[in-house]
Amino acid sequence: MTAGPSKRISAVPPSPTFAIKAQARALADAGRDIINLSTGEPDGLPPAAAVEAAKASLEVGEHKYTPVAGLPALREAVASFYRTRWSVPCVPGNVLVTHGGKQALMNVALSAFDPGDRVIVLTPAWVTYVPQLLIAGVDPVVVPCAAEDGFLPDPDRIRAAVDDRTRGIIVNSPNNPTGAVIPPDRLRAIAQLAVERDLLIIADEIYDELYYTDEPPQCIAGLGPEIAARTVIINAVSKTFAMTGWRVGWMVAPEALVKAASVVQGHATSGVASVSQRAAIGALSVDRSFLGPIRRGLGRRRDILADALDALDGVSVAVRPGGAFYLFPRVDGLFGRRTPAGDVLTTGADVASWFLHEAGVAAVPGEGFGEPRCVRLAYPVRSEILREAGRRLAAAVAKLE
Ligand code: PLP
Repeated sequence: MTAGPSKRISAVPPSPTFAIKAQARALADAGRDIINLSTGEPDGLPPAAAVEAAKASLEVGEHKYTPVAGLPALREAVASFYRTRWSVPCVPGNVLVTHGGKQALMNVALSAFDPGDRVIVLTPAWVTYVPQLLIAGVDPVVVPCAAEDGFLPDPDRIRAAVDDRTRGIIVNSPNNPTGAVIPPDRLRAIAQLAVERDLLIIADEIYDELYYTDEPPQCIAGLGPEIAARTVIINAVSKTFAMTGWRVGWMVAPEALVKAASVVQGHATSGVASVSQRAAIGALSVDRSFLGPIRRGLGRRRDILADALDALDGVSVAVRPGGAFYLFPRVDGLFGRRTPAGDVLTTGADVASWFLHEAGVAAVPGEGFGEPRCVRLAYPVRSEILREAGRRLAAAVAKLE
């Protein structure tokens, strides 16, 4: 017996987001001034009510295990949000509180499917969906969304990919990495297909409050009770409330699936820490009007960075994203160009590496999202830093032959 990895884990690629972060950190440690646009974190602070609730939890001495499925008050706060905001028929028994949205997705991969089942992943997609499915022994079926179509899913293309082994589909709107917001008519077509082919819809709505469209992104479970009955909504306090480190997320699903996922969670991690759950209850109690200025600020930053990228010869932001806080420009216009050291850029990874080493700007290669012609840049960063990033990238691109 050696201490090597299992065959299953050997097939799973490590996170490309963490890989670029490590390279950026190594350069920064060596004294380089690095602008980090690789991280998917809001730059603001959590609502004061969240911090106060956490303090109160410590003061009253909540130090013990919590119920696996979450504190009843948090389950009710989540259920009440979906009932009132999206008319989703929802009670606390439909909610499982998890360690971030990530654990909710892993719970679903492990508890809703059997090894050999197929789940559709629409690419470009967040880097973790495919690895989680592989860990669970589930076969991902990749259905690309065309850049020319604003990276929106094409229901006909999805239909063509469904076969007798297909059991689910992951839908992420607003999308990481593209920022695309799926319009209600396309969501409805996907939901209709899910009904026809008996698919579970895994709706990752973690960026639901960060949007620049006139209308908020539609919650797919809000399209009707027959859709809600086959949907798992995934969300968290991470992005909406700038609480990535508190590790509180949830899944909202039919009760049988919540119970199955609780079995996984009960054996994997148990319940989320009380202090974090109390903070989440505090966050959810806040009137969401505070998000208006945050959206407007992010919208301005999106435009600053998009303008800077569009001005680069060989780079293009096809469509200004309607949500989240990422740009996913095409960089294949730089492929074939040569650096002063004589290296020819041929992939998104080459371009991201050139951006990092020459411009000191950290972006994530598109490969991990399933689209090697692009790179991802996150813009929850102060405007002057984004402008500086634009200047540095322009100087770097000007050096390419
Ligand atoms: N889903 C998407 C699309 C994300 O981008 C992320 C985090 O970046 C997550 C889920 C996981 O979020 P959490 O930090 O709550 O685990």
